[in-house]
Amino acid sequence: METSVIGYPRVGALRELKFATENYLKNHLTKERLQSTGLKLREAHWKTQQSNGVDFITSNDFSFYDNMLDTAVLLNVVPERYRKLGLDILDEYFAMARGYQGEKGDVKALAMKKWFNTNYHYMVPEMEDETKITLAGTKPFDEYLEAKKIGIETKPSIIGPFTFLKLTKFSGQKEERDFISDIIQAYVDIIQKFEQLGTKWIQFEEPALVMDIYEDDKKLVEKLYRPMLSTKGKLKVLLQTYFGDLRDCYREVTDLPFDGIGLDFVEGNKSLNLIKKLGFPKDKKLFVGIVNGKNIWRNNYATTVKIVKELAEHCEKLVLSTACSLLHVPYTLKNENKLLKAHKKYFAFADEKITELSQLKIVLSSKDPTLSDEYKKNIELFSQKRAGQNSTVQSVVSTLHEQDFVRHPNFEKREKIQKSTFDLPLLPTTTIGSLPQTTEVKENRSKFKKGKISFEQYTQFNKEKIAEWVSIQEKIGLDVLVHGEFERNDMVEYFGENLDGFLFTENAWVQSYGTRCVKPPIIWGDISRSKPITVNYSVYAQSLTKKALKGMLTGPVTILNWSFPREDISLKDCAFQISLAIKAEVLDLEANGIRIIQIDEAALREKLPLRQSDWHSEYLDWAIPAFRLVHSSVKPDTQIHTHMCYSEFKDIIKNIDAMDADVITFEAARSDLSIVDVLKESGFKTEVGPGVYDIHSPRIPAVEEIKEALEKILTKIPLEKLWVNPDCGLKTRGENETIPSLENLVAAAQKLRERV
Ligand code: GLN
Ligand code: ZN
Repeated sequence: METSVIGYPRVGALRELKFATENYLKNHLTKERLQSTGLKLREAHWKTQQSNGVDFITSNDFSFYDNMLDTAVLLNVVPERYRKLGLDILDEYFAMARGYQGEKGDVKALAMKKWFNTNYHYMVPEMEDETKITLAGTKPFDEYLEAKKIGIETKPSIIGPFTFLKLTKFSGQKEERDFISDIIQAYVDIIQKFEQLGTKWIQFEEPALVMDIYEDDKKLVEKLYRPMLSTKGKLKVLLQTYFGDLRDCYREVTDLPFDGIGLDFVEGNKSLNLIKKLGFPKDKKLFVGIVNGKNIWRNNYATTVKIVKELAEHCEKLVLSTACSLLHVPYTLKNENKLLKAHKKYFAFADEKITELSQLKIVLSSKDPTLSDEYKKNIELFSQKRAGQNSTVQSVVSTLHEQDFVRHPNFEKREKIQKSTFDLPLLPTTTIGSLPQTTEVKENRSKFKKGKISFEQYTQFNKEKIAEWVSIQEKIGLDVLVHGEFERNDMVEYFGENLDGFLFTENAWVQSYGTRCVKPPIIWGDISRSKPITVNYSVYAQSLTKKALKGMLTGPVTILNWSFPREDISLKDCAFQISLAIKAEVLDLEANGIRIIQIDEAALREKLPLRQSDWHSEYLDWAIPAFRLVHSSVKPDTQIHTHMCYSEFKDIIKNIDAMDADVITFEAARSDLSIVDVLKESGFKTEVGPGVYDIHSPRIPAVEEIKEALEKILTKIPLEKLWVNPDCGLKTRGENETIPSLENLVAAAQKLRERV
């Protein structure tokens, strides 16, 4: 039996690539040094896999920013506005990724969206009518040769043409079909080039195939791959899918002359049944995606052995594989010195998953797998009862009643009450919560964590920072202020640290987008709150101003979605446990005079099942109630805000209204405010604040630019319903970028108010 890894993380176990890239972008590092950091990491990653005996090691999974963007550049899909800057290849690439503001021009970045149901974000390729798709780059070939040079034969991986087209935005008149023949030719050229290089296998990643697939899509797959595959000689082609199963197109895909097909047996509920029912072609290798690439719990060998045995009855050539790229899990447990052994033994990060693959290879190659040592050890681990149970929490969750999820009075009545209690102007201005985390802010936290300063010193600094920014916000003229979240490293980690039931890592970073990484906590046991978390800082901030100050919390679904969840209880039960803990915090804030409370559900959309038929039963039917449970018992004149990131809400907009918040802010600027059309069409009732400028880029938006964005929004959203705010995440920007940007935002709102 062979083993395969779909992709390996690339930022570096200690985030070396992140730091190198950021330094390069600040002009603190030369291009050559950046390139050599990349090379070193690639080599190290290949060698780790080689030393663990992985048979199919991937290349071209490396990226300076994002693999979709790499593919776009490879295919010459570079919008004219970036070309016009006249930058060199790498800087043009970064201009597409981050926007550019400098002596050569001023352009925004490409749109960015969530990568399927993960917390990774990809850059949305944009095709203009003038775009001429053609093989224009050498990255996959270069990286293949680099590996070869150190004696490692890799399978280069490239996003397949179907997924590429499905995720691309067509900005002109032309549509998907106008680009088909060119894209086929470009992929044929890729195949030919690898053929010349003597490459053995190439991997096309086609996660879009696990979505709802209709007749047109099936035809498109056939149309793209038939001619592509007819040109291959010795080179073998693996069609790699992940994040679900191929229930809509299994037959069509397996009929195509691929040499290998990779299926997901972790998230692909139907994969096994499809094979049992419809069989699997004898001449193809089946890449069995069985080692979870998204969660950090150890693989259950009993389950795996059982599935592989069943598969072996239907397929002759099996390759054990990760279920998706390991990009979505941290590197290694080796850098975790604080996690207890008793905990660690339950976890597997990327490197440990690779070890699992090699252990499973041995286990499964033995005559009776159940007799092997590794198998026995694994069985023992899974049969032990884990610590971390809390029977009180369990019993509260099990006795929740329908009324616990309903807020009174209804939205319309509350809106009236709140309009009169809060004396806010039209188009009230606010921010989404965090304010710039300067070096001193980060240093303060890290000194405290390391025990170098006392709790009093630590808190004192945060309070000074809060006072400084309450005054800055007042000067800027914002209407609803925030305390700034200076005490938070991360919106989920912070709450996790203050609740019981979570475990934390030191270096378990996972790439979220570009150079940005997150360190998700691990939900280990039952969750509860033993003391107030945010009350002190919020109350202090409110004491400094007459304006309303928003308390700032993270919602249950987001805490769950941005943590590594348990696999031994349901997501629903886990979400309700978190809801009860956050609810206690909401009530404490309210009791202490905080009248506006924002409960961020940044990640609510993220775990929506990829197939519409699963949305309610598998997710929304507990996720929306989990949010309602948090705020259902506040007073009518307490205003509940929520916030969501990068969301495409088209189809679930009604469910967002059903969260029954009073105000919702969206991250919108980077997706061209397209959310606004959706709001109008759906007759959305909740007051809204679509982010009017993109905070991911260092550029400062002009008053006019923001005013125009608002005018555009006002053609769709009634004036009385609209809030004015930037996108979320100001903590990632500098003070010198944030203050003028917010001044411009307030000025834009004021200009519009003057007109009405
Ligand atoms: N309150 C958080 C902030 O403004 C929300 C972050 C987010 O939505 N990801 O940074
Ligand atoms: Zn957000």
